[in-house]
Amino acid sequence: MSPDRFAWLATGLAELDGEGLLRGRRSVAALPDGWCEVDGRRLRNFASNDYLGLAHDPRLIEAARGALSGGVGAGASPLVAGRGEWHARLEQRLAAFEGQPAAVLFPTGYAANLGTIAALAGRGDAAFCDRLNHASLVDACRLSGARLRVYRRDRLEDFERELAKAAGAARRFVVTDSLFSMDGDAAPLPELCALAEKHDALLIVDEAHATGVFGARGRGIAEWQGVEERVAVRVGTLSKAIGAVGGFVAGPRTLVDWLWNRARTQIYSTALPPAMCAAACAAIDVIEQEPERRERLRATAQRFRHELRDAGLVVPATCVGPIVPVILDGPRRAMRVAAELEDEGFLVAAIRPPTVPRGTSRLRITLTAAHSDRDVEELAAAVARCAAG
Ligand code: PMP
Repeated sequence: MSPDRFAWLATGLAELDGEGLLRGRRSVAALPDGWCEVDGRRLRNFASNDYLGLAHDPRLIEAARGALSGGVGAGASPLVAGRGEWHARLEQRLAAFEGQPAAVLFPTGYAANLGTIAALAGRGDAAFCDRLNHASLVDACRLSGARLRVYRRDRLEDFERELAKAAGAARRFVVTDSLFSMDGDAAPLPELCALAEKHDALLIVDEAHATGVFGARGRGIAEWQGVEERVAVRVGTLSKAIGAVGGFVAGPRTLVDWLWNRARTQIYSTALPPAMCAAACAAIDVIEQEPERRERLRATAQRFRHELRDAGLVVPATCVGPIVPVILDGPRRAMRVAAELEDEGFLVAAIRPPTVPRGTSRLRITLTAAHSDRDVEELAAAVARCAAG
């Protein structure tokens, strides 16, 4: 009998299982109007990042269909032969939407963070990451070769001391999510801009969860907090409010040209499917033309947070957007409450370590513009019931 080559992995999986941290998988069919189907049951989907409900919007579907005549896959990386008319149009559309001269596309938001940060930072530099930054930002800083330092956004004085100590580094980068994906709070961008300016650092902000949702024009937290001009680099994704898939950086031409030349995740990956680019262009039209979608979503989220708190649940006070965490301490409790909610017809995510720190396992509830007021009221009542048990 051949030895089991993967016995060490089986041991690791058994350990994860023992800690309640084993990740299972299943198939979820997303449906229009905030619904989904799981194992043959229709559930209201409160686990999606399709914040504006655009992934099923007929205008996006029609746009994607129209671009399929150009083939399904792009067939090559952008600089070889994969960048076609729809890619060029989307770059222009994103640049105009963001009020920037140029834009570059990436296969995903993850790839955008990885490629951008690794193209800008390197050995001899110092990269400062918020301790709750998304994995892609942390991985990007590690990959860059810069010296990685972690800071807490609730202790900016300590952070400033660390930043000052890095005066001898070739360059300093401060890297942060704009809307934190697990806590639903916004980064203190004005304070971070001030620190970056004072200590000659470049601020890189990932607007993944905020594009389309925050700001008068829907550009994100930097717009909402009035600091767009002061943030050096803003990275975005097409996979959340924009309802498609892909990542992007819109910015000054020099920055974008550098990323075309040095961001390996876009140089060495096949270009986005043209139909995705067409759908994303249509989504940006909607984001510009229908600000009421984001306004209603944020008002609904605010009401929802109040209802949960009134029911005695722990929703962080700093939470500002459509991502609403309900902190439930241990991973097993989070899993149980999510399972009970599912029995009641609601799909919500249970988030456990290592995605969040130990002791802060939680429900991560995401509201979208596709949900009705009644959906959200019923969910609030169900969460209160299930978490009390
Ligand atoms: N940044 C943040 C903050 C995210 O939450 C995510 C995805 N969950 C990403 C980047 C990656 O985006 P994408 O899914 O487009 O790869």
